Amino acid sequence: MTGSNPLGSIAIVGGGISGVVLAIALLDRGLSVNVYEQASRFGEIGAGVAFNPAAARAMKICSQKIHTAFEKVVTKNQGEDKQSIWFDWVDGHNDTEVGKEQYAFSIGNESGANAVHRAHFLDELVKHVPDGTTHFGKHLDTIEELEDGKLKLKFHDGSDATADAVVGCDGIKSKVRAWMMGADHPCTPPVYTHKYAYRGLIPMEKARKELGDDLAQNSKMHMGQDGHVLTFPVNKGATMNVVAFKVDSGQWPSDTKLTLPSEKSHVLKDFRDFGATVHKIIDMLEPNLDCWAIYDLGDHPMPHYNKGRVVVVGDAGHATSPHHGAGAGMCIEDAAVMAELLNDPRVAETGHNGLAAAFQAYSDQRLERTQWLVQSSRRSGDLYEWRAEGVGRDFKKIEEECRERDEKLWNGQVKEYIKEAQTLLGKSLKQ
Ligand SMILES: Cc1cc2nc3c(=O)[nH]c(=O)nc-3n(C[C@H](O)[C@H](O)[C@H](O)COP(=O)(O)OP(=O)(O)OC[C@H]3O[C@@H](n4cnc5c(N)ncnc54)[C@H](O)[C@@H]3O)c2cc1C
Repeated sequence: MTGSNPLGSIAIVGGGISGVVLAIALLDRGLSVNVYEQASRFGEIGAGVAFNPAAARAMKICSQKIHTAFEKVVTKNQGEDKQSIWFDWVDGHNDTEVGKEQYAFSIGNESGANAVHRAHFLDELVKHVPDGTTHFGKHLDTIEELEDGKLKLKFHDGSDATADAVVGCDGIKSKVRAWMMGADHPCTPPVYTHKYAYRGLIPMEKARKELGDDLAQNSKMHMGQDGHVLTFPVNKGATMNVVAFKVDSGQWPSDTKLTLPSEKSHVLKDFRDFGATVHKIIDMLEPNLDCWAIYDLGDHPMPHYNKGRVVVVGDAGHATSPHHGAGAGMCIEDAAVMAELLNDPRVAETGHNGLAAAFQAYSDQRLERTQWLVQSSRRSGDLYEWRAEGVGRDFKKIEEECRERDEKLWNGQVKEYIKEAQTLLGKSLKQ
């Protein structure tokens, strides 16, 4: 193998949260990494993303730099009494006056709502990716295995690169997944969950004026029939993040685009049966906004995440709907497990075989939890939208089930997953 590191060089395809976090974690461990990103620069959308306690623990394991970047931009609920609240769930469907929604229940954890503005978080993270590590404008088309054991990455612009291992962090439409499984495999195309979401950011001053401090400054889940609206503060409390989810009995209108431009008038129409508070929130949105199709990989989960020295991490392997607010957090857990496996001296000692064994151990350890998230997220969305079988609009039952699912997610012990993966690595190396 070539490269300054005994492991050779690791190619990461995709520079989203998974790719960047993994790159930092591997660089911190002295590994040789190249990131290939199709866009011309790093970029995230202007929207919020929340992280649960398991994700925050994983950040620290990946690299203290990642957790420090997170702490720099994280925003918590603004109310003193709401510091440990993940969300307050309210009936968003039946109030006739703004602020008079029926309170249903609250679920909390040790850190409460821990949300960041995506673009700000990524800006902080990429400061730790040295110049020359990332190659922009590189859309991966396919991978070829060379006779000398190297892997050749072929890009759309006609260029190529070689590596000893390839980690696909290329998101829900992953080319790496397609290469591993075949374009015709049922797990390759993502599935429309028949839900879409409008996203918007509202200046907090305006939100406070219209909704009052509690509703504007603390995380709220406004439940309703066949839709729900969630809000939480970002930007150190200067902005209220809004995501409005709607069930769609039809098909998503585009085969190629997961996001389409939309208008506030469409949101108002979709949520016309909701209550006064939700109407007021929608009223504050910009006239033009984007609508996101909610796709996942839940109908035909990948049977494994690895093929030889090629592996998928994050959404590329287990894209989920966002109803647990945990897809990005799961990417960070993945990165922590992967980084510790690749840093295991047994991997460096055994070269290419070691890399393949590490990816096998990664897949074996991550499969169950990540795929549980995809299914649990679907169910959680249905719970908030009074569509869950046997539950409906029974707030007590919704609370019980949400609490059980959230706690399972938040109690995730990444250190334990790493230990398990290391044991699996030992077994995999013996095969
Ligand atoms: C509405 C919504 C709300 C959400 N809220 C939350 C939340 O609150 N908390 C949470 O934890 N998660 C949330 N998520 C999920 C979270 O956004 C994703 O899990 C996470 O961003 C996935 O990161 P990723 O890096 O794996 O993939 P992506 O973000 O999709 O990044 C993939 C990268 O790969 C690049 N790429 C793609 N194809 C190629 C190619 N062929 N060659 C080279 N580069 C390529 C892309 O340009 C991109 O930069 C939400 C998702 C949605 C849709």
